[in-house]
This record gives sequence, C-alpha cells and structure tokens, in this order.
Amino acid sequence: MENFYQNPCRNCGSLKTKSWEELSGDDKMIIDKLPQNQVYSDNEKKKHRFCKRCLAIKELEEIKV
Ligand SMILES: [Zn+2]
Repeated sequence: MENFYQNPCRNCGSLKTKSWEELSGDDKMIIDKLPQNQVYSDNEKKKHRFCKRCLAIKELEEIKV
C-alpha cells in the first residue's frame, strides 16, 4: 500500500497529488500565484502535497518523516 493521501482536492476533486520535490519550476511559480496558497509560508508549502491538476495545496495532511 502506497502512502498517498486520497482526500480529493477542494477545487477540482482530483485525487492525484505531487510532493514539493516533484514540482517543476513552473509549477512552483503557479503555486505562488494562487491566492489560496499564499497563506502558507515556503516552509509550510514544502511539507504539503499539491493537487496535480490545479496545484492547490492539499490540507489536513501530516507528513510522516
Ligand atoms: Zn485541484
């Protein structure tokens, strides 16, 4: 069983997510421009996963390190 989070995106309902490490430079620029993502600091963003389709931050997730 993979350790992926299955709660759907609040924006678009997609279940697919990317981690910060999987994002391209363009993805990160888009993420920085999304108003709903601007409440997060850069450090917080790195701990979250992002919707693969619309790049909204997926909330309610605790990353196990
Ligand atoms: Zn989405």
